[in-house]
Amino acid sequence: MLKLHNTLTNKKEEFWSIETGKVKMYTCGPTVYDYAHIGNFTAYIFADTLRRYLEYSGFEVRHITNITDVGHLTADDVNQADSGEDKMLKAALREKKTPEEIANFYTESYFDDIKKLNIKKSQYYPRATFHIPQMIKITETLIQKGLAYEKNGNVFFNVDKFPNYGKLSNKKVEELKDGARLEEHPDKRHPYDFALWLKAPKEHILKWESPWGIGYPGWHIECSAMSMEYLGETLDIHTGGEDHFFPHHENEIAQSEGATGKPFSHFWFHNRFLLVDGKKMSKSKENFYILKDVTDRGYDPMVFRLLIISSHYRSNVNFTWETMDQAQTNLEKITRFVKKLQEMVDDSNKKEIRPVIRTYVSTYEKEFKSAMDDDLNTPIALSVLFKLISKVNKDVADGKFNKEKATEVLNFWKEINKILGLRIKSNKKMLPENVEEMLASREAARKENDFEKADRLRDKIDELGFTVEDTSEGQKARRK
Ligand code: AMP
Ligand code: ZN
Repeated sequence: MLKLHNTLTNKKEEFWSIETGKVKMYTCGPTVYDYAHIGNFTAYIFADTLRRYLEYSGFEVRHITNITDVGHLTADDVNQADSGEDKMLKAALREKKTPEEIANFYTESYFDDIKKLNIKKSQYYPRATFHIPQMIKITETLIQKGLAYEKNGNVFFNVDKFPNYGKLSNKKVEELKDGARLEEHPDKRHPYDFALWLKAPKEHILKWESPWGIGYPGWHIECSAMSMEYLGETLDIHTGGEDHFFPHHENEIAQSEGATGKPFSHFWFHNRFLLVDGKKMSKSKENFYILKDVTDRGYDPMVFRLLIISSHYRSNVNFTWETMDQAQTNLEKITRFVKKLQEMVDDSNKKEIRPVIRTYVSTYEKEFKSAMDDDLNTPIALSVLFKLISKVNKDVADGKFNKEKATEVLNFWKEINKILGLRIKSNKKMLPENVEEMLASREAARKENDFEKADRLRDKIDELGFTVEDTSEGQKARRK
């Protein structure tokens, strides 16, 4: 039975979904004014692992991740929440591009990175700027219901009018009143009210017509609008990093439930931060790395993925190059294990998993599943895998391992790797000899700058059913 820690109730709960066998899941996505950093990818790897485990458990998951291409702000700037600088505009000026060009460029770079990290693509990536009418509609409903008010072209959510405010973050409005560090705005009735719509100053590029004049949406409303547009008024799951408990997700709940009168999401899951020297990795602290920094140092992106899933999503990971080295050693161990099995089975990665009666792996399978069922305990699940690797190594050394057992273990690996999502480098031995030879000639041709010959060889290899990619670590061929 799958149990997950629901932030909303602060308890581990049995997971259920509104529609049997189907899950509607929403993840707060990137703000595309710059490269996402690996702290952000920690959140996406967590959401991906959750989705993969739900799929493994038999659910069909409809996963939506938004793209924030409206300038305002990110969770780093919570304290300036309603009137922070327009980051898209700042980036556009910095790079001498339009905000749209900036958004397109960094959206593509986000897609490249998630591919490298083997994060499954969401079914759809709605962009905020394409959903302004939906945001305006929710805002109008909130005004009609007396939950929001307009002044001088700005619209704010009236927190005092929403009795459930604080149910996610456990914050009391009274505390907020005394409270600390909330943005003042001359048109707000209370400092803890938050913006749904803001009047655009003249220099603001991203602005739209609205019933309240020309302006732009507040930070939180886009996620309410886009999640409800693509998943309906009540979601099964909403995910994000721990900085989003408050105010972002609390405000999403207030707006959405205020407008529909229905629960917004039954389950809320939040990952803890990726840290550097004990502090949150973030743009504003300038203590961040992007994925390219990691690959430039020679690490396969899978090393980072393994590092992240080696910790439980509700504990912090402190990022250091030493911990990356440890993850690399572990990935090499897994790679050697998989290659050994492949050699023994003489299998290609593409083959269907054949049903084999499980005897050798059955206890490992049970332990792996029970670790994952227990709030996605990936570190324990991985320790089960390493236990199995040790057992296989010992049995091979003792001459007690055979092709049958290798087939069973390989099938088990393929199944659990649907959850772990580790891309293991293709085993050269799996390539036919003639392809190997052509690859070697192509390598030589490239070294001599004979690119015509190299291209001809690539075409020949292609005809034989293999694609060749030139990577920083040399050419890689795999079966199409
Ligand atoms: P943002 O672009 O700031 O909205 O962040 C995108 C996602 O990354 C959100 O779910 C954040 O909560 C998450 N996030 C930001 N920084 C970190 C970090 N250092 N560790 C883990 N998750 C993070
Ligand atoms: Zn969001």
